[in-house]
This record gives sequence, structure tokens and C-alpha cells, in this order.
Amino acid sequence: MSVEIIKQDPFQSMIDRFNIAADLLDLEESIREKLQRPEKQIVVNFSIVLDNGKRQNFEGYRIIHNTALGPSKGGIRYDTGVHLNEVKALAAWMTWKSAVTGIPFGGAKGGIICDPSLHSKTELEKITRAYTKALADIFGPEKDVPAPDMGTGPDEMGWLMDEFSLAHGKTVHAVVTGKHLHSGGSLGRVEATGKGVSIITLLALKHLKIRPYKTTVAIQGFGNVGLHTALFLYQKGLTIVAVSDISGAFYDAEGINIPELILYYNLNNKSIKGYTKATVIEPEKILSLAVDVLIPAAKEDVITKENAAAIQAKIIIEAANGPVSSGADAILHQNNVLVVPDILANAGGVTVSYFEWLQNSLSESWRMHQINTRLEHILTKSFESVFAVAAKRQVTPRIAAYIIALQKVAINQEVNDVTIDSSKYKLN
Ligand code: NAD
Repeated sequence: MSVEIIKQDPFQSMIDRFNIAADLLDLEESIREKLQRPEKQIVVNFSIVLDNGKRQNFEGYRIIHNTALGPSKGGIRYDTGVHLNEVKALAAWMTWKSAVTGIPFGGAKGGIICDPSLHSKTELEKITRAYTKALADIFGPEKDVPAPDMGTGPDEMGWLMDEFSLAHGKTVHAVVTGKHLHSGGSLGRVEATGKGVSIITLLALKHLKIRPYKTTVAIQGFGNVGLHTALFLYQKGLTIVAVSDISGAFYDAEGINIPELILYYNLNNKSIKGYTKATVIEPEKILSLAVDVLIPAAKEDVITKENAAAIQAKIIIEAANGPVSSGADAILHQNNVLVVPDILANAGGVTVSYFEWLQNSLSESWRMHQINTRLEHILTKSFESVFAVAAKRQVTPRIAAYIIALQKVAINQEVNDVTIDSSKYKLN
């Protein structure tokens, strides 16, 4: 499959789906406009002194899409490809994700244009602290609560909490989630998104009456989300036949030994490059393999109208945000590919982030069992409600998820703004 992938604007992909759901809900023009636009868009510029003594400038963003359901919540991405419309789309998806799962948060997202692999730990700490300082009045446990995303993890979240706490003269654990345990993090947060993706994958298989044992899976991306998804599915007896990361892709028809690959990855500077116990394949081939389940867990717009027809998987689980662009939706639907949308599939992350925020706010520490049970319960309930609306309205699970989210946010938005008859949106 060597077609040229024309990147679609992720914000446009969000709007395309939004409009289909909004039409079905007969959403008024004024509320439609309000929910499409972010509440706040902040661009920050700052500089740090690098290890070599030179000064480098950075541009960062924080987009607060909507706060009708609660404080805005969303990760921070460090990547050279970060741009305003990407962050705007990611922020809106956070709003819909929290609404679909019933988590009392709004949606936000942040990003810094940088290549984290080119910076030392000291430089990354300086970048994170400078970004936090610039946004110290925006963040807050009841205002806007960041979390990790591509290129960031517990270290960055710890630095952010520390810098915010310094700016406010007291320790504020609940300002950010995804922290290390010793900084007030929650058990299960690191693996939460992958765990959630695996729960949703098993529910999707059950929905299609496919037995999980020996079901074949291909996973694009072997970072926080891809790695944990691979591990949980492997532990459930699925056969992970292919994985990839930015450095390349590997295939083994008999199944890749995921614990062994993780060991290799940890000893190999967090990369699967050079793994010898599977066959090297062309990176883009991972999307068109004849597998039961395809899990894009890297970035947006990897499945587009140019390559959608080549997808052979029966199910796509959107572990990444926005991996399928809206131009591909109709083709996948026609070809009977079940797409479980990002705003449901990867919601395990925001769910356990909510648990972390709650534990911080209540000065509690929950046990692993409590976290896993609650996570499974919330995701199962969300999956069932999305698939029930899809069946009732004869729409795809993605449009069903948007319908549920838009209804919830629209009602609360109107309650917040003015007193309007919100019963008109109770259409499910
Ligand atoms: P990460 O930085 O930990 O990992 C990203 C992975 O994708 C890496 O393995 C990288 O090598 C790989 N990658 C990048 N470009 C690629 C390409 N062109 N082909 C193949 N692999 C490529 O990031 P993450 O936290 O795992 O996030 C991945 C996706 O999941 C993003 O879309 C993110 O928004 C989404 N997500 C993350 C979380 C979370 O809790 N971290 C929660 C919800 C959604």
C-alpha cells in the first residue's frame, strides 16, 4: 500500500462528525457555534537556556474548549508537529470524551512545539517549568487540570505540579494528573489508557461475537498507550501479530512475545528499533494487515480516504486521538469495519485521571482493585450506552458517541448560560 496520505485538518474531522450529530439532534445554530469554538485559546512564547549555554525559544498552547460539565481537563503534548488546530481538535475531543463517560470534567489540551528526544532531562524540566509559569493563572484544580499526552509523562507532570505550587505558595496536588505515586499520583494511571483500550477491545469483540483467544491484533505506536494495550491484550490471550513505533514495524504471524518486547524496549532507550525476534515490515503496512483488530495508538490522521479501502481488519479501536480522519468514515462503514471511536476507546486515561484528582482532593489513596473495578464499570456502561444509541438511531458508534456527548454538554451549556428549555435535547 503505497498511497500518499494527505493529512486532513484534525479540527475539520471533529467538526464534520459534530455537524452530523448536531443535525440529528436538531441543535440550534447559536449553541452549535458555541460548542464548536473553544472558550479560550492561549499561545505562550518562552525561552530556556540549553545545556550548551545557548538560549532557545519555544511556542506552546493551551486550549480550553468547554467547561460546561466541570473544570477543563486534558493532556499536554510535546511534539514537533504540534499546531493550533491539532490542539483545538484534541481539546474538543476531551470535552466529548468526558461527556460520553460521565466524568465531571470539561475539555482542554496543551502542547509545545519541540522534539523531546533531542532534549536532556534538565532541559525538559526547564521547558515544562517555563510553560507552567506562563500558564499559572490558567491551571488550577477547579479550573483547568492538565495530564500527560504524547511526549510527556509523570516527570513532566511532577515538574508542573511543583512549579504551580511554587507560584501559589502551597502544594497543590490536584492541579495535574498522571504524576508519579510519590508526588500524589494514582495507582493505575500510567497504564490506564491502555487498560481502557483493552477493556473496550474485549467489549467490541463480544459485540461481534468473536472469541478473544487467538484473535489477531496489529498495534501502531508503542508508547504509553500502545505498549500497555499490547500487554493487556497479550495477557488476555490475543495474538499481537504486529507492532510499530516511529522507528519501524515488526510482524510475526505466530504472535509477538509482548513481555519480551517490553523488556527489549526498556533496555533499548524506549524504542523497538533493532528487535530481532520478528520480521521487519514497511511501517505503513501495519494498517492494512489481514488482522481481526487494528489499533492505531500513535497519532491522528493515519487512516484517511486514501488508504481506508485497504484496511482488512474487522475492527478498528481508536486508541490514539483522531487516527481516522472524517474522510475515511464512509469507506470504512461501507466495508463493514467496526470503528470504536477515540472518545470512547481511549477514555480509560481521563477516567483514572479523574480518580487521581478525586483522591488528591479528598486526601485518599485508593487500592488497585478499587481503581480497576470502577474503571471497568464506567467503560462498560459507556460502551453499552454508545452501542445502544447506535442501534436505536442506526448510526455508527462514533456518531452515537457524539450524540450522547453533544446532548449532555448542550443541556449543561444552556443551563450555565441562560434558562432555556433544555428538554428539547432529551432525544435519546
Ligand atoms: P507516547 O509519546 O508515549 O507514544 C507515542 C508512540 O507513537 C511512540 O511509540 C512513537 O514512536 C509512536 N509513533 C509516533 N509517530 C509514529 C508513526 N508515524 N508511526 C508509528 N508510530 C509512531 O504517546 P501516548 O501517550 O502513547 O499517546 C499516543 C496517542 O494516544 C496520542 O494520540 C494521544 O493523544 C492518545 N492518548 C494518550 C493518552 C495518555 O494517557 N497518554 C490518553 C488518551 C489518548
